Amino acid sequence: MFSSSIEQIEQAEISEGILFVISGPSGVGKTSIIRSVLERVDRVVFSISCTTRKQRPGEVHGVDYFFVSHEEFQKMIEENKFIEWARVHDNYYGTPAQFVTENIKKGFDVILDIDVQGALTVKKNWQGAKFIFIAPPSYGILSERLKKRGTETEDKIKRRLETAKNELKFIPEFEYLIVNEDLEESIHNLSSIIYAERLRYERQKNLTKVKKLISID
Ligand code: 5GP
Repeated sequence: MFSSSIEQIEQAEISEGILFVISGPSGVGKTSIIRSVLERVDRVVFSISCTTRKQRPGEVHGVDYFFVSHEEFQKMIEENKFIEWARVHDNYYGTPAQFVTENIKKGFDVILDIDVQGALTVKKNWQGAKFIFIAPPSYGILSERLKKRGTETEDKIKRRLETAKNELKFIPEFEYLIVNEDLEESIHNLSSIIYAERLRYERQKNLTKVKKLISID
């Protein structure tokens, strides 16, 4: 009885989760890739950002974003409630800290979908986070995808494409690069990164069962 409860404790023992930071230009397909990965890979959760941007048709408060006023956002900055925040296309976006820290502690991996500025902030402040850039096959294809999406005015599309040009320059700052030519392949690639990171010895070395394996006489 005693030994079986020790076994149970050992089986329940978990490492901290990993923070996966995903960036890439608007319209590159990040949302579709992330959504499928969340359905297919266990123990991964998505961090829902706060934004001052207007809700688009079909978006749900508390699912896609927490849509907040400028005043509420400002208050959250002052109260140190974000692990990072940035101004993107005239709106503010931020990652609530509490959700991320709680889930990482519980052993869940957390995915952030944030812009390049935000990713660089996390890189400075969060040890062990993994950085993945999702890029379009070409600039021309990105431009077509944004126009087809039809959620933005022509002027806004122009600005997003200008931003995209700058974001692509930051690809070398990321550890992983997924060029989204084929959705299914990109989903597979992002899942593979998550699985491979989980299997690093460094992440497993403190588990009792691993220590036991190493110390057999
Ligand atoms: P959209 O308005 O198209 O949903 O997002 C615009 C940009 O804001 C995207 O590049 C998206 O990754 C980024 N974004 C979304 N949430 C956050 C966040 O919490 N922090 C930062 N820095 N960027 C974010």
